[in-house]
Amino acid sequence: MKTEYTTHPQQVITGIRKKLIRLGVGFHMARIAYSICKSPVVCIKALTKLAKHRRDYAGEMIKKIVRVDGKYYWDLYIPGYQSEAITNFFIGETNRTLGTDKNTIRFTNILIAITKRCPLKCEHCFEWDALNGKETLTLPDIKNIVGKFQEMGTGIIQLTGGEPLMNVDDLLEILKSSKSGTAFWIFTSGYNLTRENAMKLKQAGLTGVVISMDHFDPDAHNQFRGAHKSFEWVQSGVKNSIEANLVTALSICVSKSFVTESNLMTYANLAKNMGVSFIQILEPRAVGHYNGKDVLLDAGHEKILESFYLKMNYQKRYRKFPIVCYHGYYQRKTGCFGSGNRSLYVDTDGNLHACPFCRTKMGSALSDDLDRDIEQLKEAGCHEFKTSNF
Ligand code: SF4
Repeated sequence: MKTEYTTHPQQVITGIRKKLIRLGVGFHMARIAYSICKSPVVCIKALTKLAKHRRDYAGEMIKKIVRVDGKYYWDLYIPGYQSEAITNFFIGETNRTLGTDKNTIRFTNILIAITKRCPLKCEHCFEWDALNGKETLTLPDIKNIVGKFQEMGTGIIQLTGGEPLMNVDDLLEILKSSKSGTAFWIFTSGYNLTRENAMKLKQAGLTGVVISMDHFDPDAHNQFRGAHKSFEWVQSGVKNSIEANLVTALSICVSKSFVTESNLMTYANLAKNMGVSFIQILEPRAVGHYNGKDVLLDAGHEKILESFYLKMNYQKRYRKFPIVCYHGYYQRKTGCFGSGNRSLYVDTDGNLHACPFCRTKMGSALSDDLDRDIEQLKEAGCHEFKTSNF
């Protein structure tokens, strides 16, 4: 198989230029905070508290930023600067910090599984029990759910499955019928992410694509994904996504045997050559197809992953590598943002869950009283991590 990467990798910005962009972001936030607080003293207090929250959550400011289609990104779960979604995000975070109940953005991100259909059979699949079963959500149901969460205030909606690209027409319809102010992403295996589909999705308003690549070795990836063409789909999907000007990320579920410094570096080098903006690290959980299996990482694995995260995001030597996003690192520092705090998961039947991995259904996104159902979810919390009190 011939490996082809894009000739236009996504642009990673570092140094003075990055500092100037962050300064612009800071001014934008300060203007928003002042318009809400109306008092310089309250405004400075709110901004100081926000900066502390950010530091507690992710450590020092990372040393790079990526630019895609005129917008700047430094976190996979924060909308691009400048966009309506990030303005709403800043308003929401300022209001939270001030303790007001005006949460313009109630959710940072929501994952909605829009189909049970999928041509793969991944080792870690969290929708395994529902996979390729009879669909219960209709397209109007999904549009209704998207509309409800947009109404409540949601910065990012990630459409997943199953494989969301099994039905591109539905995806296009969801994107076209949504309101502005929310950034839409898809989580995909890369299947059916042709050049034409990537372009159509971009035109319909898609912001970004997270493509799962679980190994740098094509055979190991294909085996993990249960599909012999899966690595090819990743490669063509990444290329087409980047060339359609979509923010492009690779996501890896790191198994125990994969977590070595050398494997992580090989993966990072490949991701850089492929030209993506982000690498997302997911830790395996014993749910779905992994149910009952001994897949949880130990403290030694976590140490290697944390060191990789810090090296990639802070060391000068790796400044041109993609930004690494590692949820386990944030969760161990500050608790979980799922369970309706800033995020939740809607499964292929419309049930609400704390996240894709904490699978205790708690109410429905189609409920007549969604607020009540979300409150129940919040109360139950995450069974693994304490809920973040930010
Ligand atoms: S993890 Fe995703 S791509 Fe893999 S089988 Fe499950 S739904 Fe399909």
